[in-house]
Amino acid sequence: MKVQNVCVLGSTGSIGESTLDVIARHPDRYRVYALSAYSRIDKLVSQAVVTGARVVVVPDDAARQCFRDLWPAAPAAPEVRVGAQALADTAADTEVTAVMAAIVGTAGLPAALAAARAGKRVLLANKEALVAAGGLFMQAVREHGAELLPIDSEHNAIFQCLPADEDRARAPQRPARGVRRLLLTASGGPFRTVALEALHDVTPDQACAHPNWSMGRKISVDSATMLNKGLEVIEAHWLFSMAPDSIQVLIHPQSLVHSMVEYEDGSILAQLGQPDMRTPIAYGLGFPERIPSGVGLFDLARLRHLDFEQPDLERFPCLALAFDALRAGQSSCISLNAANEVAVERFLTGRIRYTEISHIIGDCLERMDALHCAAPANLEDVLEQDHHARAVAAELCMLRA
Ligand code: NAD
Ligand code: MG
Repeated sequence: MKVQNVCVLGSTGSIGESTLDVIARHPDRYRVYALSAYSRIDKLVSQAVVTGARVVVVPDDAARQCFRDLWPAAPAAPEVRVGAQALADTAADTEVTAVMAAIVGTAGLPAALAAARAGKRVLLANKEALVAAGGLFMQAVREHGAELLPIDSEHNAIFQCLPADEDRARAPQRPARGVRRLLLTASGGPFRTVALEALHDVTPDQACAHPNWSMGRKISVDSATMLNKGLEVIEAHWLFSMAPDSIQVLIHPQSLVHSMVEYEDGSILAQLGQPDMRTPIAYGLGFPERIPSGVGLFDLARLRHLDFEQPDLERFPCLALAFDALRAGQSSCISLNAANEVAVERFLTGRIRYTEISHIIGDCLERMDALHCAAPANLEDVLEQDHHARAVAAELCMLRA
């Protein structure tokens, strides 16, 4: 068996760490070729020591110096590359066979796209890349013979429930045969049952205390607002070529059914499992084979309920905003995502209230839509529109702070 060389972008994050955990269980199949981190360079050093990575990518010269200072006397240090271009070049490196795209936010888009353009197997956790540039990304996968394996648990579940067509990782341009709807499940996050008036005063730590999943802070806040599910609806639209009206969101507080596919004959296929990202990561690494992930037994006998309910759009206005943006087109999706990244960062640093997040996204969408930007034709257009929307969102945050 040929050993796969894996590049883990965002290795110090929650998905990055779970990826290294799965890889470490299969030294005969996978080797870590490259790692990247934006902060926590000490953690990057220990990861590089343990995995024997040949390359690491850090954001700037100060981080490179820090990495060198922290590196032990032995073994020999890996090559240290610097900056965003180095991230994209490393993702496209000829040595690399698979890329885990686990950087958070639009910052991860250029490198994920570079991996697709270099024809790699792309394990896509970075949903913001598809939200901001779904059309470009899927086209790159098709044109360059890449393989796209969704890692987001819902999309991984749907991928597993689709007909076992060899080409399903090749960015199909039409819905899979016989599929009527995709049913995306959502936990409802930490505020599903909190009184609406109380949302005004919730803190970042409360928003990040997800009932079922342990994740990075940005996606945890997105799960609380359910903007995360909105991003996932857009992600599902691109991954599976499904129209917005054929994607339904269902609240499922137990987070055990990770999503479902409904077929024309009335059958609904679901994927169940513990809420542990190592399952979708192992699926993406091993596809089409199944490999151990480290996730333990799932005791169905202890399950008392599997509950499902409609999301309340008054509680979760961000979900409605995401459907609106998807129907309006790519430029609106860029604005939605950019405004959210700005607003969540302001919330996490205590500068705006939780309840302002949806207002800032809504206002930013209105302002940007009024400009009637042309649909982006390339990565530069996407990044320019993203930049513009961020500036608008930052101004709106100041007004509302
Ligand atoms: P995290 O915050 O734990 O980790 C993010 C990683 O990206 C870190 O390694 C960080 O150093 C790096 N990073 C941050 N900003 C960067 C920048 N500007 N340039 C380069 N690198 C940067 O996030 P996470 O929870 O691991 O999520 C990563 C991605 O996976 C997100 O897009 C998220 O939506 C998606 N995702 C995560 C989960 C989960 O369970 N954590 C589930 C589904 C999807
Ligand atoms: Mg998800």
